[in-house]
Order: sequence, then C-alpha cells, then structure tokens
Amino acid sequence: MQRENNSTVQHTRMSPERQGFGANPVKQRETGNYAQEYIKGFVDKWDELIDWDSRADAEGDFFIQSLRQHGVKNVLDVATGTGFHSVRLLEAGFDVVSADGSPEMLVKAFENGRKRGHILRTVQADWRWLNRDVHGEYDAIICLGNSFTHMFEERDRRKALAEYYAMLKHDGILVLDQRNYDNILDNGFSTKHTYYYCGDNVRAEPEHIDDGLARFRYDFPDDSSYHLNMFPLRKEYMRRLLREVGFQNIETFGDFQETYHDEEPDFFIHVAEKS
Ligand code: SAM
Repeated sequence: MQRENNSTVQHTRMSPERQGFGANPVKQRETGNYAQEYIKGFVDKWDELIDWDSRADAEGDFFIQSLRQHGVKNVLDVATGTGFHSVRLLEAGFDVVSADGSPEMLVKAFENGRKRGHILRTVQADWRWLNRDVHGEYDAIICLGNSFTHMFEERDRRKALAEYYAMLKHDGILVLDQRNYDNILDNGFSTKHTYYYCGDNVRAEPEHIDDGLARFRYDFPDDSSYHLNMFPLRKEYMRRLLREVGFQNIETFGDFQETYHDEEPDFFIHVAEKS
C-alpha cells in the first residue's frame, strides 16, 4: 500500500539548525546531501518570503497548458518541495500525488495544502528508489524548480530517470526544468547579472562554479544566508540522458517567465514523451 496522506505526521523529525556541507563546502558533491541542505530554518524562510501568487503570475500557465495538451489526468510531483506546483495542479483539476525525499519539505507542503483547503497525498521517496515507495502509473511526472540539479553522480541521474520512466503510462510525459547552467559555465557569472529567484525578497547568487559544482548563496532580508550545492547540468547533456534512458520525443523550451536576464533564458524546461 502506498504511504501517503496522514503518514505525513510520521515525516516529522528533528531538523538540524545548520546546513550540513562538511568542513570544505566546495568539496561537498553528494547526491544524498539535499536532506542536510533543506533544513527547517531555510525551508520556513523561503516559504514565508516567496509569494505564491506572484510566483504563479511569473510562471504563467505553461505547465498546466502543456499537461492538458498531452491529455494528462494524474500527475506525480516528484520534487514537491513546499507544495507550490502540487497545489497549483490540484486547483487546476489534476489528480496529484506529491513526493519528495525530504520530510521537512513534505510537512511544509502538507501544511500549505491544508491552508488552501487541500489534503495533499504525500509520499516520502528518494528518486533513486521511487518505485519502491510510490505505486501506480502516471500520465505525467513533474520535477520542477531546478530540482534535478541535486544529483551529483551520473549513475544516480540515470537511475532516477529510469525510475521516472518506469512509473509513466505508455504515453506519459516527464516535465523537468533546470537552470541555464551553460550560460553560467561558458560566460562566467558577472556581478552585473543578479540571479533572482521569484521576487525581490530572496536573492540567489552563484558563489562558486566549476564543471562539477554550482554553489549558490541565498540572501534573505534579515541578513541571513543559506546555500545549496548543485550539479551544473548542461542542456544538451540533460537531453542526451533523457534520450538514452528511453524517452522518445524531447522538446526543450526556454524561459517563459519574466526574468532579469539579458538575452539568454535563465531556465530550460524539457518535456519528454515516453513513446
Ligand atoms: N518543486 C519545488 C518548487 O519548485 O518549489 C521544490 C524545489 S526544491 C529546489 C528541490 C526539491 O527536491 C527539494 O524539496 C528536495 O528535497 C528534493 N530532492 C532533491 N534531491 C532529491 C532526491 N534525490 N530524491 C527526492 N527528492 C529530492
């Protein structure tokens, strides 16, 4: 039986006060480290400051339209985070199961859903072993908000994509977005270009970039800062991985939202069809 709904209560556990990056943060390049990075203080602050209505306005209806065009009814959100996309899709009439590897995130998502009158069906699951913890077949899997970047090892990326693939119906789609790392890797990050993420309250800036690590710093108005260590996925590499795992038709879209970039999009969105 699928572990969902009220099992969210069991996700609660003591969250450390500090993010865990070890003695040398730029050496921290492990797929499993996301759980030490999304600690309660960070998640709470993020959620408090990012206004969902503005985020929805900035994003527009791109995902909803895309899912409808593909005749999608049920969706597995594998990177639920604080629940933004799960709730949006529920409100747009989709049947949604909300998964994430982080118990802190699922607690927050569940609370956010409840505040808006929804009972989120949450499942704690790491993408590498998704089929072990989430059951059923889906018309669509979404992995949004630059989440896939948390996988540092190629074999983990392949494993996760294969797990998504297996959970899709024969004509299902995967919708996965990523930051435009090509631009950062090729052109460097200039002090002129500030990487905003959803509004004016949170400022996100790269602090260290090399071929194997993009370490971003997130500054909040109360002068607190948090970090995330991410793998800088190149667009063509990501498309190749999707193809090699078996996805047939892969369309990649540039940014659709209002951003602060000059000519290059800040995000790419891949829509990959299983058959
Ligand atoms: N989609 C949400 C949004 O846009 O607001 C959340 C995005 S957040 C940047 C990334 C999420 O991916 C986090 O909630 C994190 O816990 C989850 N995550 C990262 N690596 C994971 C893994 N290997 N398995 C499951 N969840 C993972």
